[in-house]
Amino acid sequence: MSAFVGPDRFSVGQSSRELHLHDISPHLGALPAGIIWPRITEEVSHILTWTYDQGIPITPWGAGTSTEGNPVPTRGGLVMDFTRMNEILEIRPQDLQADVQPGVLRKELNRQAGKYGLFFPPDPGADATIGGMIANNASGVQTVKYGATKDYVLKLTVVLPQGKVIHTGCKAGKSSSGYDLTRLFIGSEGTLGVVTEATLRLTGIPSHHLAAIITFDDLESAARAVSVMIGSGLEPAALELLTPGLISLMNKEKQVGLREVPSLFCEFHGISKVALLETSGLARELTQSCGGTSFRFGVEEREREDLWRARHEAWETIHRAHQGKETLIVDAAVPISRYPEMVIFSQQLVEERNVAGYVFGHAGDGNLHVVMTGDPKDAMEWSALEDINDRIVTRAIELGGTCTGEHGVGIGKRKFMELEHGQSYHLMRRISELVDPKRLMNPDKIFI
Ligand SMILES: Cc1cc2nc3c(=O)[nH]c(=O)nc-3n(C[C@H](O)[C@H](O)[C@H](O)COP(=O)(O)OP(=O)(O)OC[C@H]3O[C@@H](n4cnc5c(N)ncnc54)[C@H](O)[C@@H]3O)c2cc1C
Repeated sequence: MSAFVGPDRFSVGQSSRELHLHDISPHLGALPAGIIWPRITEEVSHILTWTYDQGIPITPWGAGTSTEGNPVPTRGGLVMDFTRMNEILEIRPQDLQADVQPGVLRKELNRQAGKYGLFFPPDPGADATIGGMIANNASGVQTVKYGATKDYVLKLTVVLPQGKVIHTGCKAGKSSSGYDLTRLFIGSEGTLGVVTEATLRLTGIPSHHLAAIITFDDLESAARAVSVMIGSGLEPAALELLTPGLISLMNKEKQVGLREVPSLFCEFHGISKVALLETSGLARELTQSCGGTSFRFGVEEREREDLWRARHEAWETIHRAHQGKETLIVDAAVPISRYPEMVIFSQQLVEERNVAGYVFGHAGDGNLHVVMTGDPKDAMEWSALEDINDRIVTRAIELGGTCTGEHGVGIGKRKFMELEHGQSYHLMRRISELVDPKRLMNPDKIFI
């Protein structure tokens, strides 16, 4: 490897290799032979030319925060870690754009873009890399207003499995020039090549925001209020559903002092306080008509930050409350009108089966999470969780939805791909075989 990078950027040390063996899921990989940290596109190109020739599997690695085994090396080989390829190359405030290397962390990009009053909105909670977010098409709490990662990528530099460097897209705000190869690479989880540079769209930081907490006596009313709010065109910047079980854990761990009843956290962004007060007045009327029992808006800045931090750390909170257990995460998404039945179906399953499961989600875009905890070595316990996951995903697909709203397919959701996509799944496989005939790029992901 010294032909490609300096000795400080290649390791065969046991601890580095073990650190790259798993993400936050229970999916375990095969110990890679080594870890390599490239810094520039040319290095990546030289490495891939060699690994392709030698038939060595390559697994790209960002921050390792995936939930489905997406960056887990299943066949050993080489892990290509992008954390040292982390320069913000240029921010062009006049174009609302930034050119970045793939290892740039989302929070760092926002710190730098913030100096110009701009930000990169997709927010998966975790401090993920831009490369990992592109590869998973990540999104988060503000997607309901601002969109997902795919909506912010204009142009990519990609190194193909054989080492060839290509550029997709352009820096114009729109283009109808041929196939949209940029979108092909977004969400491809490193199976088609490696992203080494991206031009991202940025947007202005909203001048005013207003957070609100709305409570309900029952879960169905809370879920129905979500589709009514979205249908009314109110355009919340975040609309999250929380159920009493999760709120109870948040209260215990974070002392956020919330009522332990079905609740919506929402936020509105706007150009003036007056406009926001008008919007929140309408939101209050709408949610009251759906059975909202209390509507607290104008949440103070400090409390707002505490609440969002607590929400972002929901997975960690659940994990800590169930020490020694692993998590299986449902990430289904459905059309917004079908959200209430999806939520009720999922909550009932968790209760009927008496498993440790917490229902919540990015409700505003129909995305539902159920985080369930158990021991994968306990076959009975784990298969009960798998069965709940299977049933929820199958129902979501029947309702016109998807097995994964934001976490990607990885290893965990591969079994649903054919059901969800039918013949399109086979076309995806043919594309992957065309680009990577030896199937060396992040093998065993997306496809079974
Ligand atoms: C507590 C917690 C909360 C989360 N909440 C959300 C959420 O709300 N929304 C959401 O979308 N996700 C969420 N996630 C999942 C995760 O943060 C995202 O999927 C994120 O995009 C992963 O980025 P990463 O940098 O960690 O990438 P990794 O996990 O390291 O890799 C992700 C994928 O990208 C590939 N990859 C990495 N770099 C490159 C590259 N340069 N070129 C090509 N392929 C590459 C990897 O091979 C892998 O397939 C959460 C995770 C945690 C731990």
